[in-house]
Amino acid sequence: MEVLYSSTRGGSAQVSASEAILKGLSEDGGLFVPTRIPKLDIPMEKLAKMSYQETAYEVMSRFLTDFTEEELKSCIAKAYDSKFDTEEIAPLVKADGAYYLELFHGATIAFKDMALSILPHLMTTSAKKNHVENEIVILTATSGDTGKAAMAGFADVPGTRIIVFYPKDGVSPVQEKQMVTQKGENTSVVAIRGNFDDAQTGVKKMFNDRELAAELKEKGFQFSSANSINIGRLVPQIVYYVYAYASLVRNGELADGEPMNIVVPTGNFGNILAAYYAKLMGLPVAKLICASNENKVLFDFFRTGAYDRNREFVLTSSPSMDILISSNLERLIYRLADNDADRNRELMEQLSGTGRYEISEDMKEKLSDFYGNYADEEETAQEIRRLYEDTGYVIDTHTAVASAVYCKYKAETSDGTKTVIASTASPFKFSRSVLHAIDKKYDALDDFAQIDELARIANVKIPNAIEEIRTAQVRHNTVADVSEMKDTVKKILGLQ
Ligand SMILES: *Cc1c(COP(=O)(O)O)cnc(C)c1O
Repeated sequence: MEVLYSSTRGGSAQVSASEAILKGLSEDGGLFVPTRIPKLDIPMEKLAKMSYQETAYEVMSRFLTDFTEEELKSCIAKAYDSKFDTEEIAPLVKADGAYYLELFHGATIAFKDMALSILPHLMTTSAKKNHVENEIVILTATSGDTGKAAMAGFADVPGTRIIVFYPKDGVSPVQEKQMVTQKGENTSVVAIRGNFDDAQTGVKKMFNDRELAAELKEKGFQFSSANSINIGRLVPQIVYYVYAYASLVRNGELADGEPMNIVVPTGNFGNILAAYYAKLMGLPVAKLICASNENKVLFDFFRTGAYDRNREFVLTSSPSMDILISSNLERLIYRLADNDADRNRELMEQLSGTGRYEISEDMKEKLSDFYGNYADEEETAQEIRRLYEDTGYVIDTHTAVASAVYCKYKAETSDGTKTVIASTASPFKFSRSVLHAIDKKYDALDDFAQIDELARIANVKIPNAIEEIRTAQVRHNTVADVSEMKDTVKKILGLQ
């Protein structure tokens, strides 16, 4: 049965999956949502025998109904190949009673690779299906990981260009080095004097700028988005939750049908929304545990029903979660409002006007699938040290936020349900913060000496993504004010 996509703000016609992927964001500023959530209509027994790629086909084909089997299988084969350093693609590691779902075995060693390895293929396939002649320009704001993963995915993909904006002082040294050394004739990287929200707001403005769109069209370009608002990012992220559950059933850790909790270190609310969609598809998920760092706007929202971004923006050791406007939350709000686009639009208008909105009591009642909490900087560091000392397993700062929140959840609820923790980055990506948490004696080492030390104490091989940047040349050095973003894009595309 066909699944169509409509805007959370009700201002545009229903479109096919491929059209939604091409557009990224709806013209009315809303996000595309499936008009119905398809069911996971395959027995778990069968799923438990499938490879990651086979699972990906089963899940994604239910959502991307205008892709042929051949098209989708070809996208999957190109995405989930030897770019990943493990055949399982998303392996589970059991430590201290929880299951860490390692989503960082792709090209840029963060979970963004899970979706951004396939998005370029979904997008070029969508362009072909819709007879798009224009060159597609991907504009992306990044808090550190998306930018690199998107560039790695789109580099030298014919018919595409990609421009990435990141906050100059808001990413880790490794993240910055990874981005400014990116190869590919069609890639551009711009550092912004501002924070992630400034970058994201700037990008959204360009998407909604009709004049700019007309100028682009004249020169044979059109924008699209690789941010997690794109349905082509969200759908591939549902796959690994299904795969994790099936893997646990295969290994005898879960009985078929037994509930499982999922903990997700959250920023833009994309990854946890994918887990929620997996639950709505019928995967036996009990609680969705939303973990925040000190930018705990979501914790406050789950507690009070009020979303309020009027607060200080905190730079933490988990920079990919330093976000005060969680874009994908809009998809949840829309659902809580019983798919009432007008109600959702009013709330989102309040958010852009005053930085705040509050949901009604009846909407709040439907939040019971979720539990929210946060970990501060000290708790995050302590969790890295504790897990390392107890088990020898080393986790990155983002995963540590999730792990620390899970400890709080267990202490509060005594819930013994088996739990999967989304492990969203390799500790090598944040080696300075990780080693600092384990022992301050490592602080004096330079970045690469730290990486060697981390490999030694964790007893893990240094990932290729890190080895590469040891000697890579800096290829991008543009820095711009937030107010110059549009001009910078025009310059890059040769429009002025
Ligand atoms: C992006 C990112 C997150 C946050 O994911 P969202 O989908 O934005 O909530 C968490 N951890 C890491 C390492 C990330 O790169």
